[in-house]
Amino acid sequence: MLENHHACQCSCGETTFSVQGVPLLRAYCHCTICQGFNQAPFSDISIYRAKDVVLPSPESLEYKAYRPPPAVQRGKCKTCDTPAVEVMQIFPLPKLVIVPTENLHKDCIVEPSLHMFYNSRVSDIEDELPKFSGYLKSQIAFGHKLVVSMLRGRAV
Ligand SMILES: [Zn+2]
Ligand SMILES: [Zn+2]
Repeated sequence: MLENHHACQCSCGETTFSVQGVPLLRAYCHCTICQGFNQAPFSDISIYRAKDVVLPSPESLEYKAYRPPPAVQRGKCKTCDTPAVEVMQIFPLPKLVIVPTENLHKDCIVEPSLHMFYNSRVSDIEDELPKFSGYLKSQIAFGHKLVVSMLRGRAV
């Protein structure tokens, strides 16, 4: 493992990868794709720049593109069939890696910043976080937080 990297793994431990530092952003996503991919009411995701992540070996993963064009490659562990990492490319942002927060090393976990695609929620969430509904508002809020975090060099 690289120096300054933290070891991370999927829920069964067969898929391993590492990250450097804390994520740019942690968010809850209620979109229907995340619901299906995670088999959960919403996803709890932490976002890294791709350069700060050493991805799992390709043999341990099965990648699924849920929506053409495949801006997000969603990788599931072949052994436990749970989400391991997702690779995302949204112009003009740099390449990003989405890690389910539960797969992160505990030292890399930050407070969540927002809920997005809240319009497709399974149930209401009682917390103080901002909640964004709809594709455009969710993407703008998510992108804005990411860019602010990149400029600051830490999670917001
Ligand atoms: Zn696994
Ligand atoms: Zn989602």
